[in-house]
Amino acid sequence: MNPQSEVYPAPIKTVEPGSPADRAGVRPGDLLLRVNGEPVTDVLAYRHALQTGQATLQITRPAVSALPAGFVPQDHHTTRLDASSEALTFSFQVEWEDPGLEFEEVLFDGIRKCANKCDFCYVHQMPRGFRKSLYVMDDDYRLSFLYGSFVTLTNLTEHDVQRILQENLSPLYVSVHASNQELRQDLMKWWKLKVKDPAVTQIQDMIERLSSIDLYTQIVLLPGRNDGDHLDETLEYLTSRPNVISAAVVPIGLTAHRTNLPDVRTFTPDEARDVLRRVNVWRERMLAERGTRFIFPSDEFYLLAGEPLPPEQEYEGFPMLENGVGMIRDFLTDPLPELPAALPAPRKVILGTGRLFAESLDRAVEPLRAIEGLTLEVRAIENRTFGAVTTVAGLLTGRCFRHAIQPGEADLLLVPPSTLRYGTELMLDNLSLTELGQDLQMPVRPGGSTLGELARVILDGAASSGHQWGMSAHAVKDGPQA
Ligand code: SF4
Repeated sequence: MNPQSEVYPAPIKTVEPGSPADRAGVRPGDLLLRVNGEPVTDVLAYRHALQTGQATLQITRPAVSALPAGFVPQDHHTTRLDASSEALTFSFQVEWEDPGLEFEEVLFDGIRKCANKCDFCYVHQMPRGFRKSLYVMDDDYRLSFLYGSFVTLTNLTEHDVQRILQENLSPLYVSVHASNQELRQDLMKWWKLKVKDPAVTQIQDMIERLSSIDLYTQIVLLPGRNDGDHLDETLEYLTSRPNVISAAVVPIGLTAHRTNLPDVRTFTPDEARDVLRRVNVWRERMLAERGTRFIFPSDEFYLLAGEPLPPEQEYEGFPMLENGVGMIRDFLTDPLPELPAALPAPRKVILGTGRLFAESLDRAVEPLRAIEGLTLEVRAIENRTFGAVTTVAGLLTGRCFRHAIQPGEADLLLVPPSTLRYGTELMLDNLSLTELGQDLQMPVRPGGSTLGELARVILDGAASSGHQWGMSAHAVKDGPQA
């Protein structure tokens, strides 16, 4: 045991009834200090320590008098345990048994921040005033392993690299952007003082050192910077590495908030077509050689190029949906349910979405327009918050909908589910669907993540009475297009 090592007290969220921890008297709110005498930095290290079969867990329960006023367990990163306090500290042992603990957070020592200042960074282009978590520039390989978030590897230490290999933290998700070192540095502009070990910034060297780790990679493309022959060079390298499983290719995302940031632009249709043409050569080659298309351009490239989306099977199970790869094909794959011939009463429904997807959505819902009494409008909503240059649906805010839709002009507004904070009815600017509905004098609901789901939401809403829709009979009768 090294008593000098920094300890990261990990608040315990739950204790499984009847488990070793329960039998030892551990309670939610207690803090894990050490396992086998060593501090633990995260839930991965905790699990790894348990793999030895025998483990001694040191737990503390701070005395109430020792806690700072207003202490809540989540604040543990700023909490210093007072050695002179009357905290109750105790240990218990487990032998080939799960202790039965769940923790408030997976990282006990805090999230790793990125060491870069990428020319295309979205955080730098965020307008002010959103919740703090949206401005966090995390770049933490542990979250990459646990949740599939992309990391650049530029903030690793040699100890981290060894840990990834020893604990077999596979797969990881890596932002490559360019295999050429100078070009990658020019795009990402890492801060020399924040890079703990310059060796880790050598991307080809890192991919090769991590040869036992499966890597899902991504390339954010900037026109005139890392596309064209540079893209071919990057793909040639990535396809040559056995531990690289795939590469998502996504275009730079822009907002109107780029004051004091490098001058960059988005792709023209011709440039987007050139990207797809080059990528397709590699996709065909990889399909023949490895049985996978390996490279997956995001939906945005097909829309920008005006080219048809690949069929479902070409997405190979949609492993990169979170990265905007295949979302539209996945949406369209769920077929429409059986449609009624007519509605019980006339209804107008607006489907609000981003400009990028509006045309595709309009074509997809065409069969619903045959339903007598249903007036269905797909409205391309301009992004008033991030600027008109931002055309994806997921970044629309309540303010954008407020501006684009007149109060009472429809009987129902459906917004893309991706505009809502996970598990809530809150939009990015914290406006709730209920508040938006009050402003717009119509019910507002999340649409569907698939075409079939969206159709069912429309039909459920359309079959409801005016009262259930939150509308007066007068409003329904006198609505502009009802
Ligand atoms: S790695 Fe680049 S894009 Fe990601 S948060 Fe850091 S600066 Fe932004």
